[in-house]
Amino acid sequence: MIIDAHTHIHQDVDGLGTKYDARIDHLLQAMDQAGVTKAIVMAEEVDVPYIKRISNEFVAEICAKHENRLIGFASVHPGDPDAPRQLEYALDTLGLKGLKLHPRFQGIAADDPRCVELVQIATSRNVPCAVDAFLWKPYPLRVQLPLNIDSLCKQVPDARIIMNHAGGFHFLDALAVAIANDHVYLELSVTLPFFAGTPFEEQFLFVLKQLGPRRLIFGSDHPQKSLPVVLQTTRDMLGKAGFSEEDAQWVLGKNVMNLLGNEES
Ligand SMILES: [Zn+2]
Repeated sequence: MIIDAHTHIHQDVDGLGTKYDARIDHLLQAMDQAGVTKAIVMAEEVDVPYIKRISNEFVAEICAKHENRLIGFASVHPGDPDAPRQLEYALDTLGLKGLKLHPRFQGIAADDPRCVELVQIATSRNVPCAVDAFLWKPYPLRVQLPLNIDSLCKQVPDARIIMNHAGGFHFLDALAVAIANDHVYLELSVTLPFFAGTPFEEQFLFVLKQLGPRRLIFGSDHPQKSLPVVLQTTRDMLGKAGFSEEDAQWVLGKNVMNLLGNEES
């Protein structure tokens, strides 16, 4: 079973920017075309020019309608004093299956005490936390560094972390963080296709080989990226890293199923 661990949808067709079709039907079509069974869709409690807010309620409603295809992650803004209560509501009442933190779009580092508290709440509910780490606009790059996730993990050692975009320009730091913290997984969207075919491809393959198939997770970042194309690029890179088809199955779905509490072996 292939699971895309990083997708977005929006109630407005241009909710993720005028260049992208953010509708649910477009996601389901892309999944069917690529042979993807399930996808994680993320709420986005963010305040940046290029995407509109995606509420937990909207994500929960869509996931309930498509419960055999979609898995919803909650978003709250760590800068909002009410965020801990909102997260408890999203997990306990709306039934969302994880937390998404977005230092790049929320401007607050993963090891800030306000994020630590949210990760403690998610971990107490036994759900994973996805944390963005690519290094891009608009907030200071310092708050987006993978090393902040190491500092977060030291404060919440049981937290299960999906590092979105595998550290981006700092993918070697992301490798170091995953080696240092047993519950950190690198989700490959954007960064894998970004560096494939560049002078840095060998270095990225080094990261894949060093970490191995049990700590890597496939994601596409649909609709900003084409799901079928990213899946093929990911398969090609896993092949170049020497992964067998059985190894690839862990990256393409089994690891994230385990993180969501469905034991795979
Ligand atoms: Zn994304």
